[in-house]
Amino acid sequence: MKCDDLHFDVDMIASSGFVARRKGLGALCFWAKYQNDLSKTKELLRELMTRFVGLKRQQRSHLPKRTLHQIAETALCYWLTDTCRSCKGVKFEKREQILTDKPCIRCRGTGKEALPSAQDAGVDLDNARFREELADCLNILHSEFFDYAERLARKSRKA
Ligand SMILES: [Zn+2]
Repeated sequence: MKCDDLHFDVDMIASSGFVARRKGLGALCFWAKYQNDLSKTKELLRELMTRFVGLKRQQRSHLPKRTLHQIAETALCYWLTDTCRSCKGVKFEKREQILTDKPCIRCRGTGKEALPSAQDAGVDLDNARFREELADCLNILHSEFFDYAERLARKSRKA
């Protein structure tokens, strides 16, 4: 949700070209999601896997690395394409190209695709546990991206 609020700023920043110098997970998020840069997406996946495994080890989780990597990959795929495919994030149904006040049926008015299940991801965990792990991993992406975008927005206002 926070990312949506920032979308306008993000587009502006993207066209300013001044993101190019920055490194780190947040910057990679930016390039992967808003610039569709495939090499950055691969780098981001590697970084996210490392970060997620680190977090889980800190929490004394015994999930195997392979499972954590699968979860990270699922989280990233979801995060990159989480906009509802029916309403394109607008949240309402359209009738003859005109927006109605009926919430979108596919996303139930959230503007987002449904989260993948453990089965969708091919991960051998029960679904409730899988969703918790997935949420932890998505949180890393959300907060890194948000911090990054916020820092940039602040900088671009000063410039
Ligand atoms: Zn929708």
